[in-house]
Amino acid sequence: MSKTTKTLTPKLVKKLWLAFIVLVVMMGISYISITGYVANMHHQETTQQLNAELANHVIEEKFQNASPFLADGSVNKPLFGDLMHDMMAVNRGIEVYLLDDLGEILYSVVLDPNDKNATKNVSLAPIKSFVATQGSEFILGDDPRNPKAQKIFSAAPYSVDDRSGYVYIVLAGKKFQEVSGTLMGQYFARLGLGAIILTTVFAAIIGFLAIWFLTKNLRVITSTVRQFSEGDLSARIENPDQSDISIFANSFNEMADTITGNLDKMQSVDLLRRELIANVSHDLRTPLAILKGYIETLQMKRNTLSDEEQQEYLEITHSNVDKLSKLINQLFQYSKLEAEQVTPVKEPFSITELSHDLIAKFKVLATQKQITLKLEEPEANNMVFADVSLVERALQNLIENAIKYTDPKGKVTLALLKKGDQVEINITDTGKGIPIKEQAFIFDRYKQVDESAKKQGSGLGLAIVKKIMELHDTTITVLSKPREGSSFIFNLPAYKA
Ligand code: ADP
Repeated sequence: MSKTTKTLTPKLVKKLWLAFIVLVVMMGISYISITGYVANMHHQETTQQLNAELANHVIEEKFQNASPFLADGSVNKPLFGDLMHDMMAVNRGIEVYLLDDLGEILYSVVLDPNDKNATKNVSLAPIKSFVATQGSEFILGDDPRNPKAQKIFSAAPYSVDDRSGYVYIVLAGKKFQEVSGTLMGQYFARLGLGAIILTTVFAAIIGFLAIWFLTKNLRVITSTVRQFSEGDLSARIENPDQSDISIFANSFNEMADTITGNLDKMQSVDLLRRELIANVSHDLRTPLAILKGYIETLQMKRNTLSDEEQQEYLEITHSNVDKLSKLINQLFQYSKLEAEQVTPVKEPFSITELSHDLIAKFKVLATQKQITLKLEEPEANNMVFADVSLVERALQNLIENAIKYTDPKGKVTLALLKKGDQVEINITDTGKGIPIKEQAFIFDRYKQVDESAKKQGSGLGLAIVKKIMELHDTTITVLSKPREGSSFIFNLPAYKA
């Protein structure tokens, strides 16, 4: 167990760190890509806006003084050659083209006739929208030297000698692209490096704090669990409801309570068992010692003892043998009940008949003690649904006790009373009674009210009665006043025929 608790936190921390690093790297890549894209678009848009009028200027300045076409209709190459060279000398990023009204390139100094990639046509749609909006919108057009790319441009229409077309200036030409590419690379290298250093430092600080806070409760729980597993049974997670993982914290506390509760129970059961063994051996030893003493006396002094003395000694031995067999019998019954080896066999029977039988059985004993023993029964015949032999055993123990703890001239009554779907059974005596503070304990084995009682019984009778009640899902109540008497009352389910 300690192995799992030891490795739990670092494993979780490792996973959290991994997730955090992945998150930071992804954020960095997204940040650099978005920044690059936005910066590039911003730069292109600015360049296009700044140079929107460039093509217009060409037409205004150059087309006034000289015709762009020669008398035979061909392009005035010297004029354009100079013009284009001049312009591209000032701004090395641009490329100037002369287009006809279908978008065909009439002339450009940058076009290499051997360049297989270059096209001879430019799409007119973006040029027309550019002219219509006077360059106020961001529009990309074809690049004749790189047909796959779309470039920012400036364009203006001309109409000379019955010919019309466009002056088309690609603003981010090949040269521009090369320079921009190198610079962009450097810029991104710097931006990336800066971003990586900054985000790593911040991410490390935030990550450390976040993981520390996230695993704080876990550390508390881990250390408490370890404390508990190392033997400190009082270890509990403090304020479990405030924990981020309160279900776990509460479950651990409940589990710890159950474990300690069970341990306490086991210890008390163990204590009771030892107590029982000690008491049983004591109870068995006393009558055995008496028996041994009298038998030895009879053996050694048989010739010197009178007949009466011999008779008396034999009677004492006999009563001790009775006591022993009764005690052993009770112990046997109790241990069977305690080990839950007894399953009640419930059936309908007449509790009235059973009571009559028991009264008859105990009549002799009661008469010997000058006690009036009678059955009080307002109803003619009460039927119950229970285990007849177990109920008989319980009633026997209760009647026996009532007679035992009642002085001569007293009264013992067994009353049966139907109450709804139950039959109440009440054994009342006018005996010595039980002090209130003792009443709660008399059903526990070996609890005897006073030392004098110890001499009279085993202390198992009522414990057996209690077990029998439990097997019938009912309870027994005692009402008693010292020197006035006691009543033991319990209910059994009535049987409706
Ligand atoms: P015991 O064998 O000692 O009678 P029980 O379990 O039958 O053991 O009874 C437990 C104790 O309860 C007795 O020792 C006695 O002190 C008390 N007790 C039980 N029944 C009565 C009663 N009818 N009147 C007074 N005390 C009683």
